[in-house]
Amino acid sequence: MSAPAVSVDAIGFAPSTCGRLVVKVGSSLLVDADGQVRRDWLAGLVADLGARARQGQQLVVVSSGAIALGARRLKLPKGGRASLEDAQAAAATGQIALSSVWAELLHDQGLIAAQMLVTLDDLEDRRRYLNVSATLDRLLRLGVVPVINENDSVATEEIRFGDNDRLAARVASAANADGVVLFSDVDGLYTANPNTNPDAELIPLVPIIDEKIESMADAGSASGMGSGGMVSKIEAARIATSAGAHLAIADGRVVHPLARLAEGGRGTLFVAQKGAAARKAWLRGGLTAKGAIHIDSGAAQALREGRSLLSAGATRVEGRFARGDLIVVVGPDGKHIARGLAEYGHVDASRIVGRRSEEVGAILGYAPRSALVHRSHMALL
Ligand code: GLU
Repeated sequence: MSAPAVSVDAIGFAPSTCGRLVVKVGSSLLVDADGQVRRDWLAGLVADLGARARQGQQLVVVSSGAIALGARRLKLPKGGRASLEDAQAAAATGQIALSSVWAELLHDQGLIAAQMLVTLDDLEDRRRYLNVSATLDRLLRLGVVPVINENDSVATEEIRFGDNDRLAARVASAANADGVVLFSDVDGLYTANPNTNPDAELIPLVPIIDEKIESMADAGSASGMGSGGMVSKIEAARIATSAGAHLAIADGRVVHPLARLAEGGRGTLFVAQKGAAARKAWLRGGLTAKGAIHIDSGAAQALREGRSLLSAGATRVEGRFARGDLIVVVGPDGKHIARGLAEYGHVDASRIVGRRSEEVGAILGYAPRSALVHRSHMALL
């Protein structure tokens, strides 16, 4: 079962090449069989995060463990997963403990923690997606480490992620991250189930997720404490890689797991689809544009240089759209230059057309967004 080691840092996770990294930690790593936080192990991981933060890497943590911790405190059967109500009560109880452990340990590394609890809707609905994305961007630029979990105590069954693997991948997309590491009690993707098949081999590198890779996804999680098995990890890999982020499934059962992985520890690396094009592919895809923003030649040039569309460069707004709707950006010659998500609805957008950013807050009467269309939610055509 030996496979050549992958040095994820060599491939693209090093602070020099990966500005933003999402690190997901599974329940079975954080919480022991008695329902206590595995504090020493966690301190090792947080020390790894501290070392990377000092090298300039911006970090997002996606942490499971609320249900497992809360279930113990409330003495609930089946690890708090006997019913949705139990899971929701356990999550509410465990989350408060979970966030304080993260805050304390990050503080010991000189880092400030922030908590964000999100539901599937928050990342699917484009308006709320923009809010999550803007908040993450602001926190990361302030040097804060967002610690994210699903808001399990309010999300109902149909609208739950249910596992933090896919949540981490969506968060990576919202944060414009370059890499995601999923730490759990499985050390990677195997050609067959390693628990039952002695010939199963670890696959160190997956350049593209095809049917063959999908068919290997039944290897499962060893602990049964969390809910993310290999199927959800592959799904997470698909989301992350198509959003332009590499994703690694790695063994978290070692001390200093991130440092170990960087040196070539066991794991499977899914390679990001190439270029910024991948991240924005969905903008170009099926969505129908609800309106248009016409811009001047200076703004057209700025967009081609990769900048956001500011109100000053806009000349006219067309159509009826809400914040988060897809709009087309039209150049002075009438050609479509870009597609993107509007940061304002059409009424407010038309009020600030042609106005300098400094004026916008006073015109609208509320704290303005940084752009009419932000560059991370825009695809040039
Ligand atoms: N959100 C759940 C928790 O905090 C964990 C979900 C998962 O197992 O991935 O307990």
